Amino acid sequence: MDELHESTPDVPYPNMWMVPQWRTCELLAARHAELGGTIDFGVAVTGLDERQDGVRVTLSNGEVVTAPYVVGADGGRSTVRQALDIGFAGENYETQTMLIADVRLTGLSRDAWHIWPGPDGRGQRLGLCPLPGTDVWQLTAPLAGSVAEAVADAAEVTEVGWTSRFRANMRMAERYRVGRVFLAGDAAHVHSPAGGQGLNTGIQDAYNLGWKLAAGDDALLDTYEAERLPVAAAVLGISSRLHARRTEDAEEAMRRDDPVLRQLSLHYRGGPLSAEHRREPGSVRAGDRAPDAPCHDAAGVPVRVFDLLRGPHWTLLAFDVPAPALGDAIRTFSIVRPGAAAPGVIVDTDGHAHRAYDVSAPCYVLVRPDNYLGCVTGNPADLNTYLR
Ligand SMILES: Cc1cc2nc3c(=O)[nH]c(=O)nc-3n(C[C@H](O)[C@H](O)[C@H](O)COP(=O)(O)OP(=O)(O)OC[C@H]3O[C@@H](n4cnc5c(N)ncnc54)[C@H](O)[C@@H]3O)c2cc1C
Repeated sequence: MDELHESTPDVPYPNMWMVPQWRTCELLAARHAELGGTIDFGVAVTGLDERQDGVRVTLSNGEVVTAPYVVGADGGRSTVRQALDIGFAGENYETQTMLIADVRLTGLSRDAWHIWPGPDGRGQRLGLCPLPGTDVWQLTAPLAGSVAEAVADAAEVTEVGWTSRFRANMRMAERYRVGRVFLAGDAAHVHSPAGGQGLNTGIQDAYNLGWKLAAGDDALLDTYEAERLPVAAAVLGISSRLHARRTEDAEEAMRRDDPVLRQLSLHYRGGPLSAEHRREPGSVRAGDRAPDAPCHDAAGVPVRVFDLLRGPHWTLLAFDVPAPALGDAIRTFSIVRPGAAAPGVIVDTDGHAHRAYDVSAPCYVLVRPDNYLGCVTGNPADLNTYLR
């Protein structure tokens, strides 16, 4: 499908990971609990009513909750989207259903993703993918009736866990925001699983929206749709093309080596929050994802740019200039070449940071809480204007 990529100073995590969905849910739930959140399982939103100062949400247990904002992250059939009467344009592929299940089995080695072709050696009759870090396999079978029928003579299934029947839909919401209510994840866009883009896109929706909700600024909240809707449209195009290659049984239909699929080149250039002021910017510009780089602090302790960015704060990286104070909410770091080391600076010992950010002249790089470059400039006055 794709080669394993070596990590580089600017891209420490270059490879896709196959993580079982229950494990992703477990990790997110644990982090949510750590931050003081609770999840009420088995309770559904049944209706919404927006008021001037908040949204009244009716729950299936009869409770009514009022919240300043609501995010409908309730999946492809989203009750929230339907309550807002937001169109979900696209197509259903009624005939293309697939059985998916988590199973335990014996008789297959776990060092490969096993795929059996369909009749005449074409398409796929059965896929069994070992889910790393577990003893579970993900079963996918486009034509099957039951797990037992799907597996037949391929392996001996000892336990069937979660199962679902999936139908390929390719649709996206016409709006991501109505007043104080937002859509995120599959509620906003559903596509073919080909290429593994869905969850990744949904998580980045949430990551884009989270800090904007925390700021609570109305104009800032409008930029959520402006930035994320075009991304979903592009993802829909990519996953639909991959899906079609597979259903048409095209040559190399399972190749997944297009770097776009790793979502590391995704950017918001030209968007409402991207301010590039340099007359001759390098290859990394306002709107791009902030790259990583290994550096040292003034005491010689190794520190990565990702360490500086981690957390919900804004970060100013001042390359080869002193970092101006921009208020408590913004962490500022001056990144200098080794010869210019001074107290409090970050030393770009091997030049990785200058290379990764492609800076040749002194400049200020203001990084958003979601780690995209907001404003890049040689003039510190631009930073205050941008922040205002
Ligand atoms: C076969 C298959 C393979 C896939 N492989 C990949 C992959 O490799 N990589 C990838 O990135 N993506 C993949 N995806 C896509 C990914 O699974 C989805 O994009 C992702 O699960 C969407 O997450 P979500 O939280 O937005 O929605 P969901 O996972 O659908 O979660 C929605 C949640 O909302 C709850 N809910 C629904 N209605 C209500 C209501 N009224 N009130 C309260 N709660 C409600 C549901 O119970 C559910 O818990 C795959 C999908 C399929 C089907």
